[in-house]
Amino acid sequence: MPICRERLYFGMQITKTTRRPPTDGFEPAWMALYRSGELEKRARIADKHLEDCDLCAHHCHVNRKQTLDGAACRTGQLAMVNSAGPHHGEEDCLRGWRGSGAIFFAWCNMRCVFCQNWEINWKDGGRERTAAELADTMLRLQAMGCHNINLVNPSHVVAQILAALVIAADEGLRLPLIYNTSGYDSLEALKLLDGVVDIYISELKYGDTALARKYSHAPDYVQVSQAALRAMHAQVGDLRTNRDGIAEHGLMVRHLVLPNGIAGTEQAMRFLAREISTATYINIMDQYRPAYRTDEHPELNRTITRAEYEAAIATARAAGLHRIDRHCSDHWVIRWP
Ligand code: SF4
Repeated sequence: MPICRERLYFGMQITKTTRRPPTDGFEPAWMALYRSGELEKRARIADKHLEDCDLCAHHCHVNRKQTLDGAACRTGQLAMVNSAGPHHGEEDCLRGWRGSGAIFFAWCNMRCVFCQNWEINWKDGGRERTAAELADTMLRLQAMGCHNINLVNPSHVVAQILAALVIAADEGLRLPLIYNTSGYDSLEALKLLDGVVDIYISELKYGDTALARKYSHAPDYVQVSQAALRAMHAQVGDLRTNRDGIAEHGLMVRHLVLPNGIAGTEQAMRFLAREISTATYINIMDQYRPAYRTDEHPELNRTITRAEYEAAIATARAAGLHRIDRHCSDHWVIRWP
């Protein structure tokens, strides 16, 4: 989704009062695993995976505790955080009126030539955060009143997130967890996240293998992202919201429309409708802009036209998908306090 311009207010004082979790009776999915001790066990298992890493679809099998050599994500034992803060640019059902508590992880496990967040993923980098520091970031977002913890670009830091979540839960975190991914996830990682993640937001970038190879250097992207979506949907089902229209559980899919049909919208929508659910909540995004290395690819070096966007929406509807997010749409009624 759009680039986060907010920065985390690290100067904010957290007191016992501001740490207090919401009291509306909501309980995130991961609380059951936390209570049983399974969450801590998952964190320990994930930590072992770092020594022979298969935590995303690259399956690099490097020991990230010893070296970055061979790690496509360029991330070692500690997560790199670029920025964090209440994000008001997400879909209505995520941002509500207090913002989505976004944590933007630096680096990425993909190599899209049109990367929309390249300043975060490839330029600025970020600061290494220990599990305790990452937990503290989650608690600060809760203290600010955010509706959820929104882990943006998390595929390469699953182990670090689980370790932090155990600490944050000990300290009173009670917000739903959003795993906000490009879709290039390993089934090994998704198994570790079963019962931990409340809301999966997955991109479905391509419908065509050759185009995924050409523009993201990921020839297996279509196959990988489709397998990941099946696993995510099996875990959480279709997106559910509470009485205020705020998402609490389930799957949301994002599809960024690219110029000249490069995103393969028809194949992507057909897959969702036939193999996931016609009730899949989908955001067909219109904000594509040329960025990063698109000057090397003239066919990507323009924004999309209104006709291209409307055609993508019509394609989704024709496939049978009927929960299509539109900004300022009447699909979601937010009760503003
Ligand atoms: S997270 Fe993915 S890219 Fe990073 S080392 Fe592991 S398998 Fe490779």
